[in-house]
Amino acid sequence: MGISLSSADRRAGLAGRTPSVATLCSHSSLQIFYGARQEGLPTLGLAIGPPHRYYDAFPLARPDRFLSVPKVDQLPTVAPELKRSGAIVIPHGSFVEYLGPERFAQMDVPVFGNRAVIAWESDRRKEREWLELAHVSMPRRFEDASEVDGPAIVKYYGAKGGKGFFLAKNRESLKDFRPTGPYVIQEYVLGTRYYVHFFYSPLSDRGYRVGHGSLELLGMDRRDEANIDELYKLGAQEELLKAGIRPTFVVTGNVPVVLRESLLPKVFDAAARIVERSIELFGGMVGPFCLEGIMTEDFDFKVFEISTRIVAGTNLFTSGSPYSDYVAPGLSMGRRIAQEIQRGVALDRLDEILS
Ligand code: ATP
Repeated sequence: MGISLSSADRRAGLAGRTPSVATLCSHSSLQIFYGARQEGLPTLGLAIGPPHRYYDAFPLARPDRFLSVPKVDQLPTVAPELKRSGAIVIPHGSFVEYLGPERFAQMDVPVFGNRAVIAWESDRRKEREWLELAHVSMPRRFEDASEVDGPAIVKYYGAKGGKGFFLAKNRESLKDFRPTGPYVIQEYVLGTRYYVHFFYSPLSDRGYRVGHGSLELLGMDRRDEANIDELYKLGAQEELLKAGIRPTFVVTGNVPVVLRESLLPKVFDAAARIVERSIELFGGMVGPFCLEGIMTEDFDFKVFEISTRIVAGTNLFTSGSPYSDYVAPGLSMGRRIAQEIQRGVALDRLDEILS
């Protein structure tokens, strides 16, 4: 990863000391703190307001120390204290979303992974450009409603959790669509959703080689999405609409899944090409990422989104998954992050995994 002066400056406080692991108390923080503890790293929880009491219920996943700020936009003010504590910040979906991708990218603390990825992931057009350059199969995109030739999904930019997405059975039903902001129209892919959890290590010299490092598959989940997942009980989308309810895809939980073993090469190939392109485009993705896609009946894995950090679906596998057990028994994504930090310290190569 290209090391800017400021990135080196941010890491200066880590020299010769055991780093601590810090993250925002939400999303996958229990797993991140537990994994760090398993690897012997101190932990620091960033809380908005008083730390939530649920941490008391999970002593092994409770951070050693909390740092609280009254409001989320005050998080950057704890940067000096984080640096004094030798902290490495672990990004997760809520952390980046609550603070905003730009403000997160500017935080003056060492961050696990390459923060340059945020610019490529948070802009749907750039994300598509990256995945297309990697020759990844994706849902077709229609420039205009008149091009639609089958079921379609209209997605708003930045609509977290798919709020307000519009499903159209065909071009005809798009006539009812009244946009409320910038959007894209995509082919609605029929198939089965898989959210595939990868870890890319630039420090590893064994395993499934990609670039100078290796790619690990640590788990897979499917998301429970309200209210669309319950649609079948009402018969059809029209029934929901008749009741004045717009279908939504708000994630409410996760379920574990495995893929037919014969389909594993497809997801590995796609992930490897995405990592290779990331190295060329912005110096490389590091650590956890998730390919979110739909496997069609013809076994085409169409990727509709990439998350370039730990995803909440990994919370299913705090003691290992049907995949990570073949990498190392009992390995979670949180623990894998801590291992990479420990390896970076031992090899004196933290500069390759932090930014
Ligand atoms: P989040 O930020 O929570 O990941 P988002 O607003 O970025 O959500 P997407 O992840 O792109 O939205 O899509 C949300 C959900 O919509 C997916 O989990 C999936 O169920 C469904 N979906 C998205 N794109 C398609 C598609 N092309 N065909 C079928 N279903 C899709």
